Amino acid sequence: MQCPKDKTESLMDVVLAGDLPAKHCPACEGNWILPEVYHEWQQQQEPSKLEPVPADLDIGYEPAALDARAGLCPECHGFLARARIGLNPAFYVERCARCGGIWCDRHEWDVLIHLGLHTDVPYLFTADWQHQTREQEYLDRERRATVEKLGEELAQQIFDLAEKLENHPNGDFGVAYLMRRFTA
Ligand SMILES: [Zn+2]
Ligand SMILES: [Zn+2]
Repeated sequence: MQCPKDKTESLMDVVLAGDLPAKHCPACEGNWILPEVYHEWQQQQEPSKLEPVPADLDIGYEPAALDARAGLCPECHGFLARARIGLNPAFYVERCARCGGIWCDRHEWDVLIHLGLHTDVPYLFTADWQHQTREQEYLDRERRATVEKLGEELAQQIFDLAEKLENHPNGDFGVAYLMRRFTA
């Protein structure tokens, strides 16, 4: 089986963190996870919480050199689709649209583990997850803009107040009060 990124390299057997057997490329250090192997392994895992990743989370992730290169499935030659995972710089996992095999560039499997997303990779390719990721990115941008306009201290008070109102059973009264103050 050849590497989907640098096509002349042969993949070798390896066992990834979490005890998942995979095929490893010695040149680019990417890993190919066979669909049936993943499926079987997934059955034995605890389900993850699957929350979108805040963009400012710093885990020292650096995209692999071949991350952006399009690849074909080493098994069925289907197109490898990319799923965007928050983070900055953005992080992508690839998956064969035809057979469901998963490709992780160098270090990407470990990042997935770190984020608790490794036990449900197929879900990352659904419209539902992609929608949540975009929402999260929008919220992060809005938060950064608020800090920029109001300064760290006042912005933090606003965030705290928003959270208190959100969690209070009558929080919408507080929101209505603020809106009246500013729309009169
Ligand atoms: Zn490779
Ligand atoms: Zn395939």
